[in-house]
Amino acid sequence: MKNFRREILARTKRILIKVGSAVLTGSDGLDLKIIDSLVQDMSNLARKGYSVVLVTSGAIVSGKHRMKITERLKSIPEKQAAAAIGQGRLMRVYSKAFEKNGLYVAQILLTLSDVTDRQRYLNIRNTLSTLMEWGIIPIINENDTVAVDEIKFGDNDNLAAMIANVIEADLFINLTSIDGLYDTNPLVSKKAKLIRVVSEFSEEIEAAATEETSSNGTGGMKSKYLAAKKVTAIGIPCIIAPGKREKVLVDIMAGKEIGTLFLPMADRLNSKKYWIAFTLRPRGKLVIDDGAGKALTEKGKSLLPSGIIGVEGNFNLGDAVNCVSRDGTILAKGLVNFSSVEIDKIKGLKTNQISQILGHKDYDEVIHRDNLAITRQNYKSKNQ
Ligand code: GLU
Repeated sequence: MKNFRREILARTKRILIKVGSAVLTGSDGLDLKIIDSLVQDMSNLARKGYSVVLVTSGAIVSGKHRMKITERLKSIPEKQAAAAIGQGRLMRVYSKAFEKNGLYVAQILLTLSDVTDRQRYLNIRNTLSTLMEWGIIPIINENDTVAVDEIKFGDNDNLAAMIANVIEADLFINLTSIDGLYDTNPLVSKKAKLIRVVSEFSEEIEAAATEETSSNGTGGMKSKYLAAKKVTAIGIPCIIAPGKREKVLVDIMAGKEIGTLFLPMADRLNSKKYWIAFTLRPRGKLVIDDGAGKALTEKGKSLLPSGIIGVEGNFNLGDAVNCVSRDGTILAKGLVNFSSVEIDKIKGLKTNQISQILGHKDYDEVIHRDNLAITRQNYKSKNQ
């Protein structure tokens, strides 16, 4: 069998590493030994010339410990307050550990609205690339104290997937409390087998990734799987690996068979299309006919009014919408050049009829192919 790992590692320069709460938690709130050993590994990699960006959880866990709270926090304000207490400590622990290895760190706290706004997204990108040029280790977490419900990334797996895109990582390593993705939930079945390589997303693989979490984790394997799916869609390989294993990062980079490797998918989305596909919330739907569906997904064409048979939702020029087939399958997501009201008037018409109906025509296409991300894969997924 082809050694995919070796090929991937040979091309890797920029690594995004995500460490989950379940890895970082110890009797002292944060597990200082684990953090020290992960930081040593990361510093080793930095010394070897890799650029390392870290997405870390642990703020809430650390804040809870300070407040001597042992049970799971339920309300959002409690979690936010704990994160506000814990984030400072989390950074202090990391910066001390990195300084022992001769490296400095920078703190970046983000919310979903920071990456859905194109300008802010670009600002984050510029800041991160400057930090990497300066040899600083960026340490990123969700800005928990301001992020509520709809502006939350949902979890740090999702945040890390988005950052992998921002920094154009060559590899995303997601460190968790178990060995990788198993074919069935290992917490339930003793017969569960570790999946070494995922080259295609199937319904079986998706079913294997359950939402169950350890007591301090968030999202379970499901959110790790979804994050892997997102990054591999833009050609970034992902390894889900056991964060508590000694020398885990150095060993992974030395090519050891650790965890589950998700291979990049053949069709690569460019960074802007990824941003459209995975960070923007769809404001509505355009139902399109079979001809338009084929033109979009197989021929890389723009969406014209003639292929549209229905419009759902209220949206404006520039909003993201899903393009769906008659049976409701989501085929693509893109930024519209007309409002929902306008599209309703011009649907099914030829391009040269647009100005007649609307009194103006700034664009021929309802969605230009440059602003259109094909999200349909060759498998059925409930999560798209
Ligand atoms: N941002 C949270 C924290 O630092 C954790 C979120 C997550 O683990 O997904 O505690």
